[in-house]
Amino acid sequence: MCGIIGIVGSKDLAKEMYRGLLHLQHRGQDAAGILSYDKHHPEHVSGVNRIKQLGLVKNLLPELSEIGGEIGIGQVRYPTIGEGKLQDAQPLYITSPNGILGIAHNGNLVNYLSLRKELEREGTEAQTSSDVEIILNIMAKKYSEHNCLLDNIVDSIQEVYQRVNGAYSVLCFNKKLGGLIAFRDPKGIKPLLWGKRTIDEKVSYGFASEDEALYALKFRDVQPLEPGVIAIVDNHRELHFRKLRQEVHAHCAFEWVYFAGTEARLENVGVYGARKRLGEALGYQLRDRNINADAIVPVPDTARTAAQSLAQVLGIPFEEGLIKNRYIGRTFIMPNQRDRETAVGIKLKPVREVLEGKDIIIVDDSIVRGTTSRKIIRLVKEAGAKKVYFASTYPPIAHPCYYGIDFQMGKELIANGKSVEKVRATIEADGLFFNTSSDLKKAIGLDDLCMACATGEYPADISEAKRLGELREILNERTRGSQLI
Ligand code: SF4
Repeated sequence: MCGIIGIVGSKDLAKEMYRGLLHLQHRGQDAAGILSYDKHHPEHVSGVNRIKQLGLVKNLLPELSEIGGEIGIGQVRYPTIGEGKLQDAQPLYITSPNGILGIAHNGNLVNYLSLRKELEREGTEAQTSSDVEIILNIMAKKYSEHNCLLDNIVDSIQEVYQRVNGAYSVLCFNKKLGGLIAFRDPKGIKPLLWGKRTIDEKVSYGFASEDEALYALKFRDVQPLEPGVIAIVDNHRELHFRKLRQEVHAHCAFEWVYFAGTEARLENVGVYGARKRLGEALGYQLRDRNINADAIVPVPDTARTAAQSLAQVLGIPFEEGLIKNRYIGRTFIMPNQRDRETAVGIKLKPVREVLEGKDIIIVDDSIVRGTTSRKIIRLVKEAGAKKVYFASTYPPIAHPCYYGIDFQMGKELIANGKSVEKVRATIEADGLFFNTSSDLKKAIGLDDLCMACATGEYPADISEAKRLGELREILNERTRGSQLI
């Protein structure tokens, strides 16, 4: 999971890209970057400039004055492949016979390793260990076959659709086009939205992983880009769509549960409402099982909405029994397990007056590896709680995700091959409850979802994916110990 943003037609590009990326910061904290095109830039003959830094978006501030012109793409990175080095941070760019091509993406390529080898055989060596470079190289190869630029763009994306298996929402800049190209994989696994604004009669377009980043920059009529459709904004600031593929969609259900901001609206379904309905579904389940407690406590912040609606259904007080240390990052998206575990203990502080002598129902968005949940339960018990039940809005995650989230190995998942009772005992809860996959589907209200990590039913071929998970594990080993929390 990463966050991407692209703007065409900005009068204040550096500030707008920076603000847009800040709105997407929760989607990746490993690195941030911006690529811009400014044909009048005094120091850059090509007009293309790029800044990128490891860590948070704010680390871009010292170089932000380098960003100029009216067109930019940017990314916040959460690495699922690649070594997490600065060279893998996006945007990347390449010089093709049809002008500079820049790229930023959100997702993960399932057939990354075989495509990398294929491209090597075709004479293109990868310069980074980032999977978006594969898409960039496939596009660049096709980019000069016709005299017509539009035909080249369409052909290059058709080629991506034919060769690349996985999740990819992509923003491309092309210097010759003088504009932006946006597309999603035909299943639309990862989100991408677009919006339009008119300031002083000048039209501009924005694209982003979440709508709030666009609304904050005054874009309006924000809507999802249809999967399999290319959006092209040309140098006259006109937007064109071309439909290339029609497939059954498989939007990542985990976006509504964990990744996206509570204020976001993806595929026209609000995240807040979905989380509220997930809490209600858990509430009905607990009510049917006669579970009682003194307080409902959310694991801040993603589970708060669900915990409130669960509390309403059960008629039990909602209490803030765990306080988040605002200065510690999101633990799940830290690139390795040791950092995640250390961070939990620093990140959450128990409120003793809420917990002491009480029976508590803790609500969390999901249980992935289980180590975080166990740490939280211990923390709450050490603060004096008598009984601690645990309720997860997402069903048991028993299968790896190969589409851009850092659980690519089945063996690292606590629910992989284990019964709910076994998971309960491992995390040391007095009771454990999950929503079912049909609760999840009902709460989001869409039929065309990917819920593969819960059901094991993947939307496409995953035969190559296991090798990718192993590669990730090797790279995690290499980086272990070198990351700060
Ligand atoms: S496997 Fe799970 S996390 Fe991965 S895309 Fe599907 S729903 Fe999302």
